[in-house]
Amino acid sequence: MNRCQTLGMRLSRQRRYVLELLWQADEHLSAREIYNRLTQAGKEIGHTSVYQNLEALSSCGIIECVERCDGRLYGNISDAHSHVNCLDTQQIIDVRVELPADLIARIEEETGVKITEYRVDFYGYRNSPQ
Ligand SMILES: [Zn+2]
Repeated sequence: MNRCQTLGMRLSRQRRYVLELLWQADEHLSAREIYNRLTQAGKEIGHTSVYQNLEALSSCGIIECVERCDGRLYGNISDAHSHVNCLDTQQIIDVRVELPADLIARIEEETGVKITEYRVDFYGYRNSPQ
């Protein structure tokens, strides 16, 4: 919300609902899920409003948007974090991963790039595939 204000974004009631929900959830949600959860919680918000707010917030980099083959998922951005992609439930779970310093040093040496930030994508199954 502070970042919205810094960017001069209008903070409507609906926009607050979306931000509050995303900052409470530690997983990534589709627009439909966000709409359903807000409606179930008794918040007055329309479908279109959810979509418009998600578009506006993600285009300013205030929320995270992950493109998936079956649509987009949204999450909060608190710091650089990695993702565990669950292939059977389609969930994306945020995790904090710290890579060993010697591994970072080796990558820096190989590429000549000083690493300041990184994200790791993990893929797997919650239920072992048959
Ligand atoms: Zn994330």
